[in-house]
Amino acid sequence: MSDYTCPHCKKTIDDEEAVLCLYCGESLGRNAGFMGKLRHPRHTIITVVLIAAVLLGFVLLAVK
Ligand SMILES: [Zn+2]
Repeated sequence: MSDYTCPHCKKTIDDEEAVLCLYCGESLGRNAGFMGKLRHPRHTIITVVLIAAVLLGFVLLAVK
């Protein structure tokens, strides 16, 4: 039972790792987790900014 049906175009997705529909490009609504979100360029930028902000916060705390 590994087949998944796209909620948008109702096509069957064979790729269990897929986060976006192969046919219509819409999100499959899966909880892909952290690594899955990294596939999306916009999410990657947001993730990098968040990590940088957290690291900067730790550095500022360490300096004090
Ligand atoms: Zn689709």
